[in-house]
Amino acid sequence: MKRWEDNVRRVTPYVPGEQPKLQKMIKLNTNENPYPPSPEVEKTLRQMETDQMRLYPDPAAGELVRAIAEYYGVKESQVFVGVGSDDVLAMAFLTFFNSDAPILFPDITYSFYDVWADTFRIPYRTIPLNDRFEICPQDYRMNNGGIIFPNPNAPTGAVLPLDAVEQIVSSSPDSVVIVDEAYVDFGAESAVGLTAKYDNLLVVQTFSKSRSMAGMRIGFAIGSEILIRYLQDVKYSFNSYTMNRTAIALGAAALRDDAWFRETVAKIEATRDRTQKELRRMGFSLHDSCANFVFASHGEMSAADIFSALRERNIFVRYFNRPRIDNYLRITIGTDEEMDQLFAALREILGLSA
Ligand SMILES: *Cc1c(COP(=O)(O)O)cnc(C)c1O
Repeated sequence: MKRWEDNVRRVTPYVPGEQPKLQKMIKLNTNENPYPPSPEVEKTLRQMETDQMRLYPDPAAGELVRAIAEYYGVKESQVFVGVGSDDVLAMAFLTFFNSDAPILFPDITYSFYDVWADTFRIPYRTIPLNDRFEICPQDYRMNNGGIIFPNPNAPTGAVLPLDAVEQIVSSSPDSVVIVDEAYVDFGAESAVGLTAKYDNLLVVQTFSKSRSMAGMRIGFAIGSEILIRYLQDVKYSFNSYTMNRTAIALGAAALRDDAWFRETVAKIEATRDRTQKELRRMGFSLHDSCANFVFASHGEMSAADIFSALRERNIFVRYFNRPRIDNYLRITIGTDEEMDQLFAALREILGLSA
């Protein structure tokens, strides 16, 4: 080892789901939306002028911030935007989690949290979900340097009612609580309204799932003005031009077509309900999901084996080889046709008749 390597910030990186490049595949492994974004997005894209690319984008991403503020009924000074919610969350970790006390998050959750904590050298403590994979608010009543959890949780899909979210926020008034609402549009109640009451609450959302724009990298946070100001100070000390012109314009365009958004979400919810029934009929056990994926375990065959057998058929789902969840598959909700092909493959793998 070279001497200079003693001074390298060494991290174990987050491992994103595979992005295979196959012509024909069914991709149900990274919770992308199977439907395209609104036609309003395409129209706006076609009107973009390449000559503008010479110029830096608006560092404040004003057009997008205004559209988000209007949509959610908050002040522009309560909105922060970034390059996907991963960027927003990383910035929030850096800004708000600076205590010697550990930050708290569930033992089973988005696997980026411990990676950011390690990268930024933030002490953390994981709080076990109960046997039904639920977050118990009373478990978070302890000295802490901050709290973060997704609602609905990932990869379980379990939802925490808003009064339980409020319990967690109100019982830690001396630290910042981040609610990661990546999947909130698929059936949970958002905590955005609570940001008026609690200045220590930051709600983070993304255009990647419900708004079909994972490839554009658009995420945002809503919180008290003071919280947002602190976030901005850190962002401007890091990289002023996080969001590019195209993302700013197309994000704003997506928000203008609410009918398209609602329709897409409703289709996914209907397919999810059908998927849950179908999987249960095949011997899977699963808790009701409020997200655009289900988290399922089979009574007879191991998740690892089902995962591999599906993969051989070019059907990609997500498998996490981690304690407590190593016999579960996380399956993104695709189109009805894609799910039908998944069911057919599963029947074959499990030796069931149609
Ligand atoms: C997908 C996801 C994100 C990140 O999404 P971006 O594409 O970076 O906006 C954040 N948190 C959770 C829980 C997610 O599942």
